[in-house]
Amino acid sequence: MNYKDLADIIFPDVKDISYYEEKYAKRNLKEGAIVTRFAPSPTGFVHIGGLYQSVIAKKLANQTEGVFFLRIEDTDQKREVENGVIGIIESLKEFGMEPDEGMINEEEEKGNYGPYKQSLRKEIYQSYAKFLVEKGMAYPCFCKAEELQEMRDKQEAAKLRTGYYGVWSKCRHIPVNEQIERVKNGEEFILRFKSPGNPEKKIKHHDQIKGNVDFPENDQDIVIIKSDGLPTYHFAHAVDDHLMGTTLVIRGDEWLSSVPLHLQLFQCLGFKAPKYAHIAPIMKEENGAKRKLSKRKDPEAAVSYYAEQGIPTDAVNEYLLNIANSNFEQWRRQNPDAKMEEFELQLNKMSVSGALFDIIKLLDISKRVISKYTKERVYDEAIKWAEKYDVSLKHLLEQDKEYSLKVLGIERGNVKPRRDIAKWSDVKENIIYMYDDEFFKNNPQYEFQKIQDKEEIKNIVKTYIDKYFNLEDDKETWFNKMKDLAQEFGYAREVKDYKQNPENYKGHVGDISTVIRICLTARSNTPDMYEIMKVLGSDSVKERLQYATSI
Ligand code: GLU
Repeated sequence: MNYKDLADIIFPDVKDISYYEEKYAKRNLKEGAIVTRFAPSPTGFVHIGGLYQSVIAKKLANQTEGVFFLRIEDTDQKREVENGVIGIIESLKEFGMEPDEGMINEEEEKGNYGPYKQSLRKEIYQSYAKFLVEKGMAYPCFCKAEELQEMRDKQEAAKLRTGYYGVWSKCRHIPVNEQIERVKNGEEFILRFKSPGNPEKKIKHHDQIKGNVDFPENDQDIVIIKSDGLPTYHFAHAVDDHLMGTTLVIRGDEWLSSVPLHLQLFQCLGFKAPKYAHIAPIMKEENGAKRKLSKRKDPEAAVSYYAEQGIPTDAVNEYLLNIANSNFEQWRRQNPDAKMEEFELQLNKMSVSGALFDIIKLLDISKRVISKYTKERVYDEAIKWAEKYDVSLKHLLEQDKEYSLKVLGIERGNVKPRRDIAKWSDVKENIIYMYDDEFFKNNPQYEFQKIQDKEEIKNIVKTYIDKYFNLEDDKETWFNKMKDLAQEFGYAREVKDYKQNPENYKGHVGDISTVIRICLTARSNTPDMYEIMKVLGSDSVKERLQYATSI
């Protein structure tokens, strides 16, 4: 009796691996093309860190004319969530991270290297497990959970490394005849990898992000096939990434320490190992210490948070690129209008340790991104958001679409567009005063600044309406009239004149225009007042100015 018999007894019906080796042909891609993937468990939840990985993976694949695919890693059936796959697919789609291959809904997929859901690949893993058993590189382990626990307790008490290795790997030493007997007798078992490693020796590894690292060789006889017949992550990823032609594994750096095991698995299976890029997690600062963004504690850890807030997905993606490569910011400054896709991402420029999540920075990027949108796009996206999260905004925008477009068009489309919207949830507060009904309904409060005197204000406003206000004026004439008004009331036409001789004036043109602005909008800070007046129209301007001075 030998390993071949053992393998046949354990897996009587599985195909030879040559079948799969032929079935999944080598990809025909150009030199240097990166084939990479996002491989989440189907929990329905996409962590911002998962999106971050996808942004990087998709970009690298696109840059090199490679492939980005989605593989669902559902071999841990305890973690299964109903409809867990669709949540992931939709989130990726929403962020423009659609994979080239992989699952497209709970049931269907596209691509020639599937199934892309691990639970549907059971037979494939079993073929490769059989191959290892035949070669004497995997063996059945009959240890019961209690025995393993007992072993662990002993190891801990003796302050030894825990795990199934060396003298502790009891079942590794069972003669093959006895293994066959026990399997035949129906004794329960799982399959373990027979690690050839020696922890006294080191392996050197070059990680695409972390650089050169070395580790002791792996000597753990890890489980490869569990009692439910499904593989563990370690084994499944080796088989899948081999058959799917992955050239670069991009994953969280919690897996870095598994590299010695993974390289060993690839070697024993006769596979060429992919390159690895281990990404540092996105961190959060709390009480002066850094910690990973937590699904449980931090709402911003879930990608759904950004949709709820109304932060556009391209702003989030752009922010993630910013975290990924610190030179992105400079590139963006030099190429303000370029598409994100044009930026060349480089793995060797990624930071080795985790970047801090910075919402202020994200919102700042978002303001810039939105400032480049056309008014129509702002309108459409704001409505889409409002439909779900703020119906009153939807009504406000829809009551007069043409008017709303004019409002949203203020200071938009020019060289220095307005940058006051960071998220769709800001829109209402930003524009509500432009709607007469809303404006008067909300009892406008006027907080005057330098010029406080009621009589003076009244006179300024009245004179403005009677003598200077004319919406037919072009902007320069309009502004000159504001200066005339200032002069008439003893204020400097130019700020610099006032600064040179403050004793000659009551103030300057800015103080006068502030009075008009406050009366018009009940705000001291607004976009361009000329444009506002144009959008409001003559009647509304007069009504607002008169109202402000009548109370
Ligand atoms: N399912 C693994 C995880 O979610 C994937 C790791 C990998 O990308 O290989 O961490």
